[in-house]
This record gives sequence, C-alpha cells and structure tokens, in this order.
Amino acid sequence: MSAAPRAKVEIVNFGCRLNLVEGEAMRCAAEAAGRDNLVIVNTCAVTAEAARQARQTIRRLKREAPERTIIVTGCAAQTAPQTFAAMLEVTKVLGNAEKLDAEAFRPDAAGRIAVGDIFAAPAAPPPVRGAVEDHTRAFLAIQTGCDHRCTFCIIPYGRGPSRSTPAEAIIAAAKDCVARGFQEIVLTGVDLTAYGRDIDGRPGLGKLVKAILRAAPDLARLRLSSIDCIEADDTLLDAIASEKRLMPHLHLSLQAGSDMILKRMKRRHSRTDAVRFCTEIRAARPDIVFGADLIAGFPTETEAMSAETLALVEDCGLTHLHVFPFSPRPGTPAAQMPQLAQEVIAARAKALRQAGAAALARHLDAQTGRTLSLLTERGGTARAEDFTRVQVGHVPAGRLIAAEITGHDGTMLLARPVAALDASLNASLNASLGRIAEMA
Ligand code: SF4
Repeated sequence: MSAAPRAKVEIVNFGCRLNLVEGEAMRCAAEAAGRDNLVIVNTCAVTAEAARQARQTIRRLKREAPERTIIVTGCAAQTAPQTFAAMLEVTKVLGNAEKLDAEAFRPDAAGRIAVGDIFAAPAAPPPVRGAVEDHTRAFLAIQTGCDHRCTFCIIPYGRGPSRSTPAEAIIAAAKDCVARGFQEIVLTGVDLTAYGRDIDGRPGLGKLVKAILRAAPDLARLRLSSIDCIEADDTLLDAIASEKRLMPHLHLSLQAGSDMILKRMKRRHSRTDAVRFCTEIRAARPDIVFGADLIAGFPTETEAMSAETLALVEDCGLTHLHVFPFSPRPGTPAAQMPQLAQEVIAARAKALRQAGAAALARHLDAQTGRTLSLLTERGGTARAEDFTRVQVGHVPAGRLIAAEITGHDGTMLLARPVAALDASLNASLNASLGRIAEMA
C-alpha cells in the first residue's frame, strides 16, 4: 500500500494554541504562494527543552526528506534567530511578526533571516482564523503579546506588547465556525485577560464573551484557554456565573502558592487573591472546575514555600494541573537568581503531580453515576463541559452527546452514550440536569 502523498506545505507546531492558529494561517499563505515541499517549523521558547526539541525535529525532517525546504519561525526563532540560521537544514528564519505577512512565503522572498524587533514593529494582532484542520473544536486567537514581565518568562520577548483583535472580526469568525458545524470555540491568546486594553473603549474579555454568545445563539460551547485570575473583569465574572454556554472550566496561571515566591516572580496576585477568586467563582458557578499552571522549584524556594504551593491544590480546589519543573531561560531575571539543585526541583515537581493526580481522581469519583453532556473527539474520547476527558467508544468526532458515566481509570472517565444532542437539546439537557442536581 503506497504512503499517503505528502502535503505540499506541512506545519509542525510546538507550544501553545496561538501557534496552532498561526500555523494554519501560514499554511494557507504558503499554499497560496504556490509553495511545495515546504515544512514550516513553528517553535516555542517557553522552556529550553521546547527549543531543543524543535532543533531535533528540524534535523530529523531534513534527514527523512533532504529535498524539503525548511522555514523556522515562532518564539524560539524570534528570541534566538542565529541559533536556527546556523543550522544547515534551515533555509529561512522568520520572526513572529514577519510570519503573519503572506509575502514572506513567496519563493522569491529575499533574505535568509527576517526577524524584526518585536517591540518596535507595530505588529498586527493575531489572525483571527477559525478552526485548524480536522480538530473537534475551533480556536480563535483574540490577543497576542504581553505587557507583564514575570521574572521567569521569555514570552514577552518572543511575542512583543499585548495586541487585541477587533471584536467585530472575532464575532464574524465565531459565526463562521458555527456555520461550519463547530459545536465548541476556544478563545486563545498569550494574556487573554488583557484583551481589549489597546482598543478604544477598552472592551474587556467579559464584554467580548457576552457579545460572542449573543451573536451566535447556536454555539453550544464557548471555552477560555487560560486566564490570570487577578485580571478577570467584573463582566467576565458575571458571564462565568450566568452564561451556561461558557464552559465551567478555568485554567489559571497561578504559578506558585507562596507570597514570597509570587513576589520574586513579579506576579500580580497573592495567595489570598487566588484562594478568594476560586472560592467566589465556585459559589457563583458550583459546576466550575479549575486547572492551573504551577512551577516547581523556582529559585530561592524553601521547603516551607514549596509546601504552600502544594497546599494550594486543596485550598483552591484545583483539578487539572500543568506542573513545570523550573528551567532557567537565558535573558530572564530568574536565570540570574540562585538555582535549586535539579533533584530538589524534580522531587517538588513529583509531589505536585501526585497531588494533582489525587485531586483528579477525587473529581472523577464524584462524576461516576452522573449523566453528562460531552463533545466527542477522534479516537473514541470526548470532553465534558469541565474539560474532563472521557472514553466513549466509537462515536464520530465533533458530536454533542449525553452519556452516563460508568466509572474511571484514574485519568479519564468511562461512559456509555445515551443520546445524541444538538445545541438546543444540549441546553435543555443541562437545564434538566441542573434541576436534578438542585433536587438532590
Ligand atoms: S503574564 Fe507573565 S507568564 Fe504570562 S506571558 Fe506575560 S510575562 Fe509570561
């Protein structure tokens, strides 16, 4: 059986969903420019490991098909262009602003390195483009860049200042996604809660969420990628409490549970702020589930400070943890601070992951026996509204179904589909399930 013909333009994305959305825009631009045998490697710089994996992938891609042209872009290319330009496998290096210019992909486009100063160039907001190919949910990029300077983070140097996409363009793209049959839209960016600060009238994220749901009444699910709890505006808090089609799942950029470490990270919230935010949101929206990014082993972190971060899992009621063992990023202030031993960092990351696994298992226990609304994905899995993964067996991807939860395997729920739903059935199912929960 002959292998499937290789795509004219291939995208290899690393890192965040914003890269996924931009990857789709670059694929279309390169195809429109008539490119063939082209691979665009869209890198991430959030950890040294991410940049190393990109270089390894580039070498493999060229080894596998030497005739292919390789263009490298993304945050690692923006922050360290020479590193990639020095690789013989690489034909061109593009910056994060340059990659959004379709002209950059013309075969005759000049220059091997096109990486401008991301702070100087009035770079455009992200392409709002809808869903990427054959994914179940549509990602809409609404913001890029960041005006903060957390001491461990290199993202602002890769992405530049915070820029927001005009609301009209986002709403039009959302309606287009619904018209194309998508049941769920995920709003993504770098610092989502900074949305609108650079737009006249400073429409916040809450106003945008409400406007999308008003303009797309047939959209079953709207999801936020991750937010900074201290920057959540009042309209957003109200939307979380009152809009049932806004999914009860918030991924929080918490990073640590010790006030001293939060201060040394230059974060804008305190431990008390984080706990209060989660407590108040849970009171307003009882079915809410929190995920969080937590860094283990930040420089100068003592055992007592690490214990405060561990306790945050319980105190905030976190369920889905992303644990990052601290890795210094050259050029960041935290890289200059006295570093902890690798084995200490590894042990603290392990303890956090264990606490996360226990919290997830408690959450999965609590779902067993319930009937939930699920959005199916490829490969026999699905996602509940609170983003919990579910094994449902062979149901086509992209369908809304009701399913009875029969148990779990410690990481995902097991379910028996009971009914197919469309947006209106989904809303009435949730209303009746809400009423049943109230009666219980
Ligand atoms: S808010 Fe902090 S961690 Fe997030 S992108 Fe900005 S600088 Fe990085």
